[in-house]
Amino acid sequence: MSRLSRPARLTERGGGGAALGAAGAADADGLRVAVRHEPVTGPSSPEREGLLAAPERERRDRLLRPADRAAYTAAHALVRECAAELLGVPAAALDLKQTCSACGGAGHGRPALVGHPEVGVSLSHTDGHVAAIAAVQVATVPDATVPDALVPLAAPGRSAAPPSAPAVGIDVERVREVPDAVLTARERAWVAAAPDPHAAATSLWVRKEALVKAGALELTQLGGCDVLDTDALGDDGPASAALGHALRGWSGDGVVGAWSVPEVGPRRPGAGQSKSKIEFRS
Ligand SMILES: [Zn+2]
Repeated sequence: MSRLSRPARLTERGGGGAALGAAGAADADGLRVAVRHEPVTGPSSPEREGLLAAPERERRDRLLRPADRAAYTAAHALVRECAAELLGVPAAALDLKQTCSACGGAGHGRPALVGHPEVGVSLSHTDGHVAAIAAVQVATVPDATVPDALVPLAAPGRSAAPPSAPAVGIDVERVREVPDAVLTARERAWVAAAPDPHAAATSLWVRKEALVKAGALELTQLGGCDVLDTDALGDDGPASAALGHALRGWSGDGVVGAWSVPEVGPRRPGAGQSKSKIEFRS
């Protein structure tokens, strides 16, 4: 099992005030990930507004609160921007679809990029804050002229396995009270002893939500899934891995967030020399 080696880092993004963008860094098997989160302080730019497709704008316009409409637009733009960065295409070239696994309906549920089955995406919005993630499985190309070039397995000219999107999930929430029922007994004890129990509980909650969005956990299983880890000094804290997924979190500005990616991506058939790495782009 790979251990995530470098700490997540925060990078400033353009825009007003204490804008947060984020990227983590880690090692695993050839996964390239873009993660961003940022506050939403007002309506989106016309450029971002223009990224949304008609069904998304219709759904957004049904939201009653202006803040909810702004967050919806920002999140749906942000996830395109994450994927655009990985694919090297303009965000405006990407279309998002959502399909509900429960009712089969469109416009809600797990998001996917139209025409890019190799890219996993997830997005989240809460009051005044949004977050998005995109990930693609890559292989190191043995090309001396392009050292360490990373190319999607589904790139043209590669007779690789059929593309499959890495199962990713991201969640951002305002710090809040979390029902005991979604925590294990060990987690409840850790939360009760924490300096800020609500922040501690929310940090566990968003990890579980990220795992749910990645399809690794059912909503009915939250109270049985422990996402606490014990470090070398014997201190408990939010886990950096669970259920075969790497977990990373952040906090600040009154929100707590977390995202998950598969710890080890699908293996390329017959490949033995691909470098073991996840590369995170900010
Ligand atoms: Zn549904």
